[in-house]
Amino acid sequence: MGCPICEAETVPKYRPFCSRRCADIDLARWVNGSYAVPSQREEDQDLPEEESPLPH
Ligand SMILES: [Zn+2]
Repeated sequence: MGCPICEAETVPKYRPFCSRRCADIDLARWVNGSYAVPSQREEDQDLPEEESPLPH
């Protein structure tokens, strides 16, 4: 298994990434909320608004 970003060989210091660059890219994905867990489908992220119990 390699880096999840660019699939290059990983470096122990930056595991599971190959470099700080890829680690930053992964972090940015989390921050942007666009990171999807591989086992989940994108459709699952679309929750119906009815699920919100409290009105704003
Ligand atoms: Zn990488």
